[in-house]
Parts: sequence; C-alpha cells; structure tokens
Amino acid sequence: MKVLLFLAALPLAAQYDVVISGGRVMDPASGLNAVRHVGIRGGKIAAVSSTPLQGKVVLKAQGRVVAPGFIDLHAHGQTNEANEYQAHDGVTTALELEVGVPHVAEYLKARSGNSILNFGATAGHGAARAMAMRDVALPQAGAGNGVETMGYVNLTRYKELKEAEEFTKLAAGLERGMREGALGVGMAHQYYPGASREEIFKVFQMAARWKMPIFAHVRSMSVDAMQEVIADAAATGASLHIVHVNSMSLAALPLVLELIDAAHKRGMDITTEAYPYTAASTLLESTMFDEGWQQRLGIGYGELQWVKTGERLTKETFEKYRKETGQVIMHFMKAEWIDRAMASPFVMVASDGMPFAPGAHPRSAGTFSRVLGYYVRERKALGLMDAIAKMTIMPARRLEAIAPAMKNKGRIQVGADADITVFDAATVKDMATFESGLKFSAGIDHVVVNGVPVVQDGATVQGARPGKAVTGNFGSR
Ligand SMILES: [Zn+2]
Repeated sequence: MKVLLFLAALPLAAQYDVVISGGRVMDPASGLNAVRHVGIRGGKIAAVSSTPLQGKVVLKAQGRVVAPGFIDLHAHGQTNEANEYQAHDGVTTALELEVGVPHVAEYLKARSGNSILNFGATAGHGAARAMAMRDVALPQAGAGNGVETMGYVNLTRYKELKEAEEFTKLAAGLERGMREGALGVGMAHQYYPGASREEIFKVFQMAARWKMPIFAHVRSMSVDAMQEVIADAAATGASLHIVHVNSMSLAALPLVLELIDAAHKRGMDITTEAYPYTAASTLLESTMFDEGWQQRLGIGYGELQWVKTGERLTKETFEKYRKETGQVIMHFMKAEWIDRAMASPFVMVASDGMPFAPGAHPRSAGTFSRVLGYYVRERKALGLMDAIAKMTIMPARRLEAIAPAMKNKGRIQVGADADITVFDAATVKDMATFESGLKFSAGIDHVVVNGVPVVQDGATVQGARPGKAVTGNFGSR
C-alpha cells in the first residue's frame, strides 16, 4: 500500500507528441541562447526545458541550433514542389506578398489542407487594376497564385486607370481581398508602368484607410522610385514594406538604406528585405526588358541567363526567347551591395523565390542557408542570432498587427506554434547554384510545421501537409 502511495506521488513524466532533444535553442525574441529540450503537444510548443523530456517522436539536436522556423515574406513558389525545396532550406511559412493573388478566397481554399508549409498572400494590385478596367478581356482562371497575377499584368501593363468608376472598382476589388483574408496589398508597378502616380497614391490612401500594409516592388531601380512610395506612405500613414531593396537600389543602396532608416526613426511604419545573391530573376517578356533595358540595368545580353537551358543570351536568343516567354536570371549586382544589406540591422531576409522550375534562380532553394553559411559563418558579415532574427521574429512582427497567427510564430516559447528549424551552424550551406539549378540545402536536419516534421534527419517526410493559412484580420475586425 505504502509503495502504491509513493508511486502515485511521483510526477508522471509528461509525454509529448514530439521532443527536440538537447539542441542549442536560439530565440531572438527572448534572447535565449542555451541548450534546452523542446516539448511539442497539439501543434504548439508546450515546454522549453533544461531537463530531458519524453516524446512519442524524438528529434535529436545535440550540437545543433534549434531556431524558430524561417518565415519567407517573398515566396512566389506556392506549390508543394516549391515548398519541398523551401522546407529543406528551413522555411516553415512561405508567403506571396509582393505581387499577391487575384482571388484571395480561391487561393486560400486551393491550398488549405494540402500544403507542406504555412501559406498566405496579399491581394494583387496588378490583377485588381486589370479587373477594374473597362473593356479588358480577362484571362481564364489560372493557378490562383502570383503567376496568375502576372497573367493579368501582362495584359494591361501599359494601360492607365482613368475613370472614377474604374478607381471605385479597384477599391472594391482590393477591399474584397482584404475581407477574404489578404495580408495587405501586393504592389509591383515596375511591371505595369501604366499605373500613374495618382493611381499609386490612391492605393496608398486605400491601404491607410483599411490599416493594411503595402508590399512594394517599386516603379524602377532608382532612388526616385523609392522616394515615390516613401512619400505616399508618409502622406497617407500607410504601412510600407519595400521588397528586395538590393536589386531595386543597386549602387544607391547606402542612400536608400539611410532613407528607410531615417523615415523609420521619424515614426513611419516602414520595413524592407533583401536576398543574398548578386543576380536577380524575372520574366523575359516583362516590361523590365522594354526598349533601353541595357542602359537602365547597366548590363548586356551576356549577363542574362535563360532558366530553361542555363545558357547566357545573345541578341538573337534574347529576341527568340522573349517571344517564347519564361524566366531569366540577371547577373548585375555587386557583392559589396549584398554584404551591406545583410549587415544592416533592419533589412530582413526574404528569398523572392521563383515558381518551381528545375533551373530556377537558386534563391528559390538556398536563400536562408546561404545567409547562415556564407554570410554568417564564412564572411562574418553578421552574427548568428542577428541572422536568425532577420528570418524569424522580424518578419513575424512585420505582420502580427494585421495577422494574429504571426504573434505565435518566429519564436521558441511556450504557447508559440511549433514551427521549428534545427540546423548545424558548422555545415549549413546552400547547394543550389546558377549552373546546376535547384538542390536541397545541406546542414538542415529537422523542420517542423505546426508540430509535424516535414523534414526529418535531412529527408523529406513524404505526404506531410501540416501547413495552415495565415490570414489578415480585416474581415474579422
Ligand atoms: Zn520583385
């Protein structure tokens, strides 16, 4: 009897669904940087303990870093083919915020219950303006993601919105997107130069009214284009996130970073991001390659690489492939510009990963490992905790005011979503290259999304689809 009473008094070792054992937890939000055991139950972090824990599944992490799962604000890869490469790069949440999607509800429905990673999108200004135009034959419903938005854009890129009725329809279309769960407005007006300064200003007024952020690919690679959106944000009070500041600033990067920092210090809600590569990528048929592109970009045919074949272009192949349409890589940035962006304390890391294609820009598969391996370990351009912050808590905080789910992401804390990435700081490395195309990164051991491993011991967990929608709260205010 006494023995039974004694046993009953013993605390039963709580059983967790998953335990990540013995790794060095690095949590930028709290500053925790120590060996801990992480217990997961019901998709949430239930324990961060200095004593070992029991779990149905145990992911070994001795000698590894246990970080919040990486949040990519700029991911055009919105399929499971693309998600698998992103997962092997430590990403747990991949969002289409730059160009956005045409129909938010359909996009969310299409991915719900069938996504490896958490997902979400803005309402695409480029598509909404096309849908607001009179006498435009709209394209057939397509993939429902950013690729489809570019379909609308390519049809109307030089067209200007004129009529008041068109602006009313534009506002109604974007507002419907906000109600359906959009994470703000995706604006990429370099791809639709028909959008006047008045139109852009009006969209900023709308976003300010809705208290929803704008994610902007600015009008051109220039300081002027940066000043347009900063002025519109200042005048309207809209929140602004400037995408890929590296490729839109080029040699003017130091000045642009100073502009953004000064605007922020004056109280503006303004943020920015960069990807760690000296080449950009886009569609060869886009306006980027309209007449005069060599002068604007400061490059020639040889700096262009055709994704389908990997070949560098000539005048002949440029003209041929531009008719064919497709992805092209542009080698035109200097290494010191990227160093500067990576070292800047307020520039987040975001991939601008392309829709899945075997030869796509390596940023689609290696962005986060490249920062941790090449920029932190090899070039010492920034510290490990700072780098982790730029890909976890900073993007989470960028969105949490309008997307409640993000309050529980980007953190290794009890109660947070169990989105966790375990990697080896000594060997983590991007393996995807411009020459050989997409490859899984090295040194990423385990990736857990909402408590479910999607990468375990470096291998894909086949069939795991724990990704959930991240939606804006406009409709539920
Ligand atoms: Zn862009």
